[in-house]
Amino acid sequence: MRLQSMGVTEPTTGTDTTKIKTSAVKKDGRYVVNGQKVWISRVQHSDFMILLARTTPLAEVTKKSEGMSIFMVDLREAEKKGLTVRPIANMVNHETNELFFEDLEIPEENLIGEEGKGFKYILDGLNAERTLIAAECIGDGYWFMDRVTKYVKERQVFGRPIGQNQGVQFPIADSFIEIEAANLMRWKACELYDAHEPMGAQANMAKYLAAKASWEAGNACLQYHGGFGFACEYDVERKFRETRLYQVAPISTNLIYSFVAEHILGLPRSSDRSRWPKGVRRRTCWAGCGRWGAGLIAPSRRCSDRNAHSWRGRFRTTCPGRPARVAHLCWW
Ligand SMILES: Cc1cc2nc3c(=O)[nH]c(=O)nc-3n(C[C@H](O)[C@H](O)[C@H](O)COP(=O)(O)OP(=O)(O)OC[C@H]3O[C@@H](n4cnc5c(N)ncnc54)[C@H](O)[C@@H]3O)c2cc1C
Repeated sequence: MRLQSMGVTEPTTGTDTTKIKTSAVKKDGRYVVNGQKVWISRVQHSDFMILLARTTPLAEVTKKSEGMSIFMVDLREAEKKGLTVRPIANMVNHETNELFFEDLEIPEENLIGEEGKGFKYILDGLNAERTLIAAECIGDGYWFMDRVTKYVKERQVFGRPIGQNQGVQFPIADSFIEIEAANLMRWKACELYDAHEPMGAQANMAKYLAAKASWEAGNACLQYHGGFGFACEYDVERKFRETRLYQVAPISTNLIYSFVAEHILGLPRSSDRSRWPKGVRRRTCWAGCGRWGAGLIAPSRRCSDRNAHSWRGRFRTTCPGRPARVAHLCWW
């Protein structure tokens, strides 16, 4: 049995996973799936796929991460009953596809775990995937190091090996140090995962460090192969293209920065206007705490709740800036 495919990303919602539009509606002991996915890899090399779909509409859940479920989809069966798979030609020759679901029926027993908890399950799998991708990048990084060190020792220009020039040595040494450091974080993530400890931070940081290290190593490798770096025969240009992917997928660098800033450093979440109720306008706390909030614009242009200051979901009765003058309501 080949289970190597996971259907999460959608064309209209991208990284904002909780807004996915693919729905699975329960009907007579089955779930009926409608919607679209994009960039879903290894579909043609798998028998089964894990699919994330909304089972409760976003408007009906209290937390946006709720109301999504995961299903085991028998791909070959599904292709006969409402799933269309369209391959995407891409820069790295990776087998990845667009998927279209049209009234695809999935047996009820193919629901994995509890209905509505799918996002939580997926996140757990994504942390393992990020660690795995980190390992792949580290492998690529060492590959670049092996190739470039061998080449610069052999290649003679101006009567000596190019690797004798410190201008050539330093970027290579720099890349090697970064790969080794990323490797330590990768093992840290693995240890925590094996111990069933929370490891989201380490998984994300390992993926970030490894993707960056591998990219820099690829850059150095290409640079010091000179013109030969561009020749397909050496494989350097292919690996250089391939390793670029990991700045974007399975999670982009910006989203890792955002995770670290918010969840590790405790910085405020960047605002999501679509979550604000109607009639709410964004502004800073006029009482002086300096934080962005959403003041309920009453005719008096004052907050209707004069004593509430909500901060990351918790209500405080005082403003941290000037406790005496609180008059706004935050929505993050
Ligand atoms: C080859 C390949 C294979 C893939 N395989 C799979 C797969 O098997 N299954 C699957 O589900 N998905 C897969 N993906 C999808 C991949 O996970 C997404 O491409 C990735 O998460 C980025 O989402 P997006 O492409 O929709 O970019 P978008 O969400 O549109 O983002 C575009 C850019 O904007 C930036 N950005 C977006 N929002 C913010 C913000 N708030 N702050 C700062 N920057 C922001 C991002 O960092 C990114 O660089 C694959 C993608 C590729 C290219």
